[in-house]
Amino acid sequence: MERFQQYIGGVFCDGAAEFDSIDPATGQTWAKMPEARTEDVNAAVQAAETAFYSADWAGTTASARGKLLYRLADLIAENAPRLAELETRDTGKIIRETSAQIAYVAEYFRYYAGLADKIEGAHLPIDKPDMDVWLRREPVGVVAAVVPWNSQLFLSAVKIGPALATGCTVVLKASEEGPAPMLEFARIFDQAGFPAGVLNVITGFGPECGAVLTSHPKVAHVAFTGGPETARHIVRNSAENLASTSLELGGKSPFIVFDDADIESAVNAQISGIFAATGQSCVAGSRLVIARSIKSEFLARLKEKAEAIVIGSPDDMATEVGPLCTKAQSDHATDLVARSVQAGAVRVTGGEKLDRTGTYFPPTILDCSDAPDAPCLAEEFFGPVLSVVSFDTEAEALEIANKSQFGLASGVFTKDLTRAHRMIKGIRAGIVWVNTYRAVSPIAPFGGHGLSGHGREGGLQAALDYTQVKSVWLRTSDDPIPDPFVMR
Ligand code: NAD
Repeated sequence: MERFQQYIGGVFCDGAAEFDSIDPATGQTWAKMPEARTEDVNAAVQAAETAFYSADWAGTTASARGKLLYRLADLIAENAPRLAELETRDTGKIIRETSAQIAYVAEYFRYYAGLADKIEGAHLPIDKPDMDVWLRREPVGVVAAVVPWNSQLFLSAVKIGPALATGCTVVLKASEEGPAPMLEFARIFDQAGFPAGVLNVITGFGPECGAVLTSHPKVAHVAFTGGPETARHIVRNSAENLASTSLELGGKSPFIVFDDADIESAVNAQISGIFAATGQSCVAGSRLVIARSIKSEFLARLKEKAEAIVIGSPDDMATEVGPLCTKAQSDHATDLVARSVQAGAVRVTGGEKLDRTGTYFPPTILDCSDAPDAPCLAEEFFGPVLSVVSFDTEAEALEIANKSQFGLASGVFTKDLTRAHRMIKGIRAGIVWVNTYRAVSPIAPFGGHGLSGHGREGGLQAALDYTQVKSVWLRTSDDPIPDPFVMR
């Protein structure tokens, strides 16, 4: 059985306790993970704070930080197969996806490596003749990064990259569901040459490890990805330390198809939009909003493709849909489908847990055209369940799309340029993909509003969120300072 260690102050060490990690494909324990309790969290935050003020880190140049990040990116690229294998083993995310995603994670670090010495302050045209005023852009301090189990390396890279590029230090709390790739990432990070304590990687359970970390008085910013309910805890925790927060939460993203769309492209994009990552994706296009006139044809094609999807072991390159990460997730899928069918949703395909070892749930499509209150249309569900509603007019399509408390992603398929522009303007979401879906890049911001959270990851804006400005006033006159009680 493999045994992993946490990484605190540049040292690999055991946690206060240990817990089992389950392989979702077999349901068996395959590794022991360190469990960080309060004392481990305190040690990690202390290490991050010491590093933050150390000459080795605070005294380094932005260009030098960029070089370290380039080195880290190269090491990730070199070690991508091992990282992919571990993420697949520990979370059930299929190997063809982890391999591609982790190779791309290196690009995120390269982007922030390049950005490190391009984040500039400003000189202000101040309204006082004998003053020179400028803004220094400085790192906020110790960052607590808290990530969920899905795509952990990717979701960590979008936090660690900008945080280190700007000179912050980080305590990363990996998810208790599948922390292996992050603990292995720490080993790779250790070889890149950063000073000790710049990044600390721990794992443990939310109520203790997560709560102590995110409310810690020495933490200045909490970068969180996870569910809305946990986000509420995070915000309450941050009332303790008054840390700033960025929250990347879930979604119930609409995938809107008009009758003039390229049907084959839209079907393929919808299949990957919902069933990639076995549906366990925050941006999953989980609500198909389809023009009534093409609904039957579209659903027939979707059903055919969904039923042809190769379901199998996550470590097999041929597998297209693997197991869900936990048993709780597959039980939730069964329950959600049952409640939705009871509310009038019609099962087009799938809907029942597969009769095999592991947490396998098949690609499922539920037609909710006559069941507008079906729970599958409103509740975020992290699994391969697509809900379908139809519309007659563009206004109706927009109304359905916006009928959600979430606002993360959206897709619009149409060849009508002016209609596309109206939809782009009208949709309430942080991302609109037109005639495509799921495209991401380190250069483009990513995030949402409403129950999908606030703040953005990726792009320049994300880096600025890890900084604060210091206003510097320099008096340029040698004249004596006049009487202080006369305002000028
Ligand atoms: P989760 O919210 O249960 O857990 C996320 C992390 O928060 C874990 O590390 C967990 O240990 C920690 N946590 C739990 N309770 C805590 C507490 N009281 N204080 C501090 N930390 C605590 O999420 P999950 O089930 O692991 O992941 C699925 C969720 O993540 C979904 O809602 C999904 O949409 C969301 N997600 C969002 C994005 C995005 O970028 N918007 C990406 C991926 C996943």
